Amino acid sequence: MKCYACGSEKIESSMSQCPECAFPVMTVAGDTAQFETMMKQMAEEYRGKKIGGSALGLLTYQYAMKNDHLVLDKESETALSVDVTKMTPGQIWWDKTDFARVDAGEPLSLTLSVKKDGKVRNVTASVKAPAGEGFWHVGIRMQTGFCFSVLVGNEKNFAESGRISLVG
Ligand SMILES: [Zn+2]
Repeated sequence: MKCYACGSEKIESSMSQCPECAFPVMTVAGDTAQFETMMKQMAEEYRGKKIGGSALGLLTYQYAMKNDHLVLDKESETALSVDVTKMTPGQIWWDKTDFARVDAGEPLSLTLSVKKDGKVRNVTASVKAPAGEGFWHVGIRMQTGFCFSVLVGNEKNFAESGRISLVG
């Protein structure tokens, strides 16, 4: 069974709610078509309450040479123009900003902001720097359980972070 709200496939018929997002699991005898319509409506409302209006941003850092040392010069935030609320699990979105590469295999830590209902939460995505040529892009892959993961690299070759919750 698949969760109507978050797309999780970890639901078993013995469960009373989705193990990933807690949306109720109900079984019915009788008119299943009507029941399904009702469940889908409920799931849509639940989804809206949990992640509706969520927006993601990426914190970027600019380094500059000062007195022969590379120092942090500017910290800024770029809004990611992805609408995670419209994405389905597995779906990938790529940002178009070019980022400089670091050596393959190096641990990378990206800070993202998750905004919802006027609140901002910073989350960290850890990846190992991917190999490959050219600039890096940052991508978002939607996951079940109202989670996402962060991709670094390009469409063909990328590293992926662990799951990060949109709900907090
Ligand atoms: Zn769910």
